[in-house]
Amino acid sequence: MKKQYINDDLATMPATFAHFPEVFSLKGKTALITGGGSGIGFDIAKCMVAAGAQVVITGRRESALQEAVAKLGERAQFVVNDVAELDTLDQLVEQIETTYGPIDILVNNAGINMKKPALEVSDEDFNRIMHTNLHAVFALTRACARRMVARKSGSVIMISSMAAYYGLDRVVAYAASKSGVEGMVRVLASEFSKFNVRVNALAPGFIETSMMQTAMRSDPDRMNKALGRTPIGYFGKPEDIGWAAVFLASDAAGYITGVSLPVDGGNSIGF
Ligand code: NDP
Repeated sequence: MKKQYINDDLATMPATFAHFPEVFSLKGKTALITGGGSGIGFDIAKCMVAAGAQVVITGRRESALQEAVAKLGERAQFVVNDVAELDTLDQLVEQIETTYGPIDILVNNAGINMKKPALEVSDEDFNRIMHTNLHAVFALTRACARRMVARKSGSVIMISSMAAYYGLDRVVAYAASKSGVEGMVRVLASEFSKFNVRVNALAPGFIETSMMQTAMRSDPDRMNKALGRTPIGYFGKPEDIGWAAVFLASDAAGYITGVSLPVDGGNSIGF
């Protein structure tokens, strides 16, 4: 479907401008957000609900998901799911689409980190991070995209990291997984574009969540270094990622595919 431009018909300009915010709206859309019970995923869900979407959040801890949907309101539901259990993912998508309708937006947010010097990382450590952050992201995207491609409509958002942009020490498996995500975005965007399915990534800078606190706890040098190269001068909030996700999922971003958008207060370009 061809995107409509405001200047397609100058005569309709005033009416089009009256509807200006509609292009950013997610009204009538359903989003599946993995790891939506806490941290960045929760705020992506919060912003998407505020933008009019229905959201289905997943995670392993039922209590966190219950609390989250209670805060998010009636357009939020949850399903307990461990994204690392690959053989559950086709069934997860089937269950959600049968109960809540077609998934228009997939946000692959669930992820894990591990901070260790590279020489101490075991094969098991490495595989665990790659499995959740990369293989599971591919398997769930494939399950959703089969249906999106058939419907000729959909938006997939991956969550990358500054670890895929520059050499952040002691996170070798995490950096490899997020770099893999960046490559996957480009390939999938190029394969799916002809089916009107867009694939993009958000690359958060340093965002205040429990994952970041764990990585920074008892490591003031790392914290100061991260802050020192963030021109905006403070760490981000999960909501900063939430609004960027709303934009990428909306029709306003209809011509954006295959990109990784840093949401980082300038961290990726800071000296
Ligand atoms: P948190 O650790 O705060 O939250 C992670 C969320 O993912 C939790 O809700 C957790 O729920 C869920 N999760 C973890 N493993 C699984 C799994 N196997 N199956 C389903 N859900 C899972 O992390 P953040 O919010 O900080 O991170 C979210 C994403 O953003 C991650 O991909 C991370 O790599 C990325 N990121 C974060 C940055 C930051 O500064 N915070 C920077 C760059 C990227 P549960 O435990 O219940 O399963």
